[in-house]
Amino acid sequence: MNIAGFTVPQPLATGVQNITILGATGTIGQNTLDVIARHPDRFRVYALTAYSRVNELFEQCCKFLPTYAVMLDADAAEALSIKLKQAGLTTQVLFGVEALEQVSSDVTVDVVMAAIVGAAGLKPAMAAAKAGKRILLANKETLVMSGSLFMQAIEQGGATLLPIDSEHNAIFQVMPQRQLSSHGGVKKILLTASGGPFRQSTASELEAVTLAQALNHPNWVMGPKITIDSATMMNKGLEVIEAHWLFNAPPESIEVIVHPQSVIHSMVEYIDGSVLAQMGNPDMRTPIAYALGYPDRLESGVSSLDMFKIARLDFEKPDSVRFPCLKLAFDALKLGGTAPTILNAANEVAVSAFIAEKIGFMDIPRIIESVLEDSSIHPVSDLQSVIDADAHARVTASERMLAYS
Ligand code: NDP
Ligand code: MG
Repeated sequence: MNIAGFTVPQPLATGVQNITILGATGTIGQNTLDVIARHPDRFRVYALTAYSRVNELFEQCCKFLPTYAVMLDADAAEALSIKLKQAGLTTQVLFGVEALEQVSSDVTVDVVMAAIVGAAGLKPAMAAAKAGKRILLANKETLVMSGSLFMQAIEQGGATLLPIDSEHNAIFQVMPQRQLSSHGGVKKILLTASGGPFRQSTASELEAVTLAQALNHPNWVMGPKITIDSATMMNKGLEVIEAHWLFNAPPESIEVIVHPQSVIHSMVEYIDGSVLAQMGNPDMRTPIAYALGYPDRLESGVSSLDMFKIARLDFEKPDSVRFPCLKLAFDALKLGGTAPTILNAANEVAVSAFIAEKIGFMDIPRIIESVLEDSSIHPVSDLQSVIDADAHARVTASERMLAYS
């Protein structure tokens, strides 16, 4: 199976770049600011956004002096505005989804780090795509929900897309680095997965998993939603869909490989038998620095990989019986249309309920499967069809949850 062309991003124009960080207070946002702080000659922070965590965004504003700070929540924005005035800062505070879209598409902005968690990241990422920005995409849900529309918006808006997800960033690093007229010799994408904290748990142990156990990822420090997604392996399922859209790869050409050490971040197999891998410590500052600087390499603060300490690399086949979320995602991708949107929405509702300790760990795949089975799947014609499918699936998931809570 050959993979069709891959659009190689344009190098960044020289000079200081204005950057908006959507989801600045999250783990990706914080890591982005950590890398940016090392390169004041290259980046100026234009806007920082958050949902409601006022103190965290305030501290970031004091350090990076952005032109705008946006909070989704109006009361939080008011509280932030008061604190900033008291501190004598001139940062303007805005609130709401339209403000997120504004700071993603303003003419002054060069680069947008899309690092809001979940479906809420879709609208601002889409605004950045239409406005032709250089988009550093961490919010995989944007591609899962509306891959065809988003890729179209990137092309029509003249935007540039660079993947932040460590696996996709790794694949991007080992893909042929030139504009391809054909498949470029790529045969397969080998998407690695840590396997999460329950890689070796039995089916009955999985039924009894607690929230604290699921939040304890062996290799990566991440926000709560993606940490639970990693434990159910839905994260890998979402990443299969993400890889499909980013690299124009058919589902059969994407293979998931469990690699518990998380040293190889993914691989590409070529038709001549070569397999190229990208390796490094599991630290998101590496993919962030690569995307920020591309095609230059930037110092990121990540320590050297100690091969002698690692000593060995293991690989296993994923088990879709104990981890049904992976199969559900492959099924949704093959079904196409709004199926991945429905999968994503049902997953978000089920994960929130698990985090609120209302349902059990294995109820997450049960709810998603039941929502997928009972929803009608439509073609993705426009953004409204995605938003409608998302809303409908959330209602169905909430109804299904009653059977488990
Ligand atoms: P976090 O939960 O740590 O951070 C989420 C950020 O989004 C916070 O700034 C939060 O604000 C903001 N936010 C939450 N909900 C909304 C909303 N409804 N509207 C606007 N802003 C909102 O998430 P992560 O940083 O872990 O993940 C961000 C994205 O990156 C996800 O899509 C994830 O899948 C992806 N990703 C993350 C990786 C990681 O290592 N963390 C790796 C690969 C991908 P507040 O702080 O105020 O709540
Ligand atoms: Mg990942």
